[in-house]
Amino acid sequence: MNGTRIGILGGGQLGLMLAESLLHLSAEVTTLDPDPESPAAARLANTHAKAWNDLEALAELFGKCDQVTFDSENVPSGPLSKPGWAEKLVPSHHVLSTTQDRAKEKSFLASAGAPLARWQAAADATAVKAAAAKVGYPCIAKSALGGYDGKGQWRLSSEADLAALPGTVPGGFVVEERLTLRTELSCIVAREESGHALTFPVFENHHVDHVLDTTVVPARVAPALAEQARTLALRIAEALGVVGLLTVELFVCDAPGGGERLVVNELAPRTHNSGHVTRQCCTVSQFDALARILCGVPLASPRLHGGGWCMGNLLGDVWLAQGRTGGALDLSAWAKFPEVVDVFLYGKTEARPKRKMGHFVVRASSADEALERARAFRQALRGA
Ligand code: ADP
Ligand code: MG
Repeated sequence: MNGTRIGILGGGQLGLMLAESLLHLSAEVTTLDPDPESPAAARLANTHAKAWNDLEALAELFGKCDQVTFDSENVPSGPLSKPGWAEKLVPSHHVLSTTQDRAKEKSFLASAGAPLARWQAAADATAVKAAAAKVGYPCIAKSALGGYDGKGQWRLSSEADLAALPGTVPGGFVVEERLTLRTELSCIVAREESGHALTFPVFENHHVDHVLDTTVVPARVAPALAEQARTLALRIAEALGVVGLLTVELFVCDAPGGGERLVVNELAPRTHNSGHVTRQCCTVSQFDALARILCGVPLASPRLHGGGWCMGNLLGDVWLAQGRTGGALDLSAWAKFPEVVDVFLYGKTEARPKRKMGHFVVRASSADEALERARAFRQALRGA
């Protein structure tokens, strides 16, 4: 299945950074993204601004590529099961269709014996009432299909909040116990067709309003817990039969008898926002790992460089705070932050609050210091 003509469904920042890694291996990259101003469209040669369910555009893409991957699990999976196309999809159609639907994903995780929050599927808003009563308040209702960055989620503290729910959402609702989190972790598994698999170091993630804010490496958790996260992630990737990358998002919660326990939040069969930090902090980045799998180049275990690292997301709010509508940012504040080793602006032309527009990476002597400097840098950018 190895080839060097690679298609990417999605030309967002993940698709763009993957394309960069593929180009290092001399692959020919083509992206398909409905947005004519996607980050990839602005910077790469072979980009097509067509819908993901445009059968003609898909036929052209699959016709000219040896393998096709995706930078979002929200691409419609139906058309991709077509014989001749399904064989070229990496990760597979089975992996995509399982992980793009929260209800299917949770059923799979339960069958694999992964620890989960209490949950119930509910076809529509009326059914959420009974589901929430079973799960217990406080809980969260999530759209089964199409959600990302906290979109399609409703916090329910009591029955009174049910009134805010839309009648129906794509794929129905999944109602989930709202856990008290000590922290959040993610673990990215890279798995070759032979079944050989490895993991990246475990990341510690902080979210604000359900959107990733910062990622810290090494995660400030007990080494035994990080090891448990890696073992669990490998087990899940194997049970799902993933070829490519699988990111496992994890909650760290209080254990009933004291101590802490891991709960699996969700899966992403692709590169992940928390893995951006690997472009600087590891000997192999998440994008390089997927590029190698796609091009049939052997994987090497990513080793962590010394010190503490932090990735900070730059959301549209920062542009708006600078009185900008999109594009570039005033980076004069960087002068006072030599520990910021990279700033990546995705070139999105329309700044909206909570929209991911860029990110940066800090290297410091410890994880605590890296996080502190990242917060200070972003604050300074806001004031520029
Ligand atoms: P998305 O697809 O938008 O990433 P997630 O289900 O991962 O959706 O939710 C985003 C964030 O919202 C999580 O990383 C976490 O911070 C918070 N969250 C989601 N579900 C729960 C839950 N059951 N209990 C507590 N916090 C949650
Ligand atoms: Mg998530």
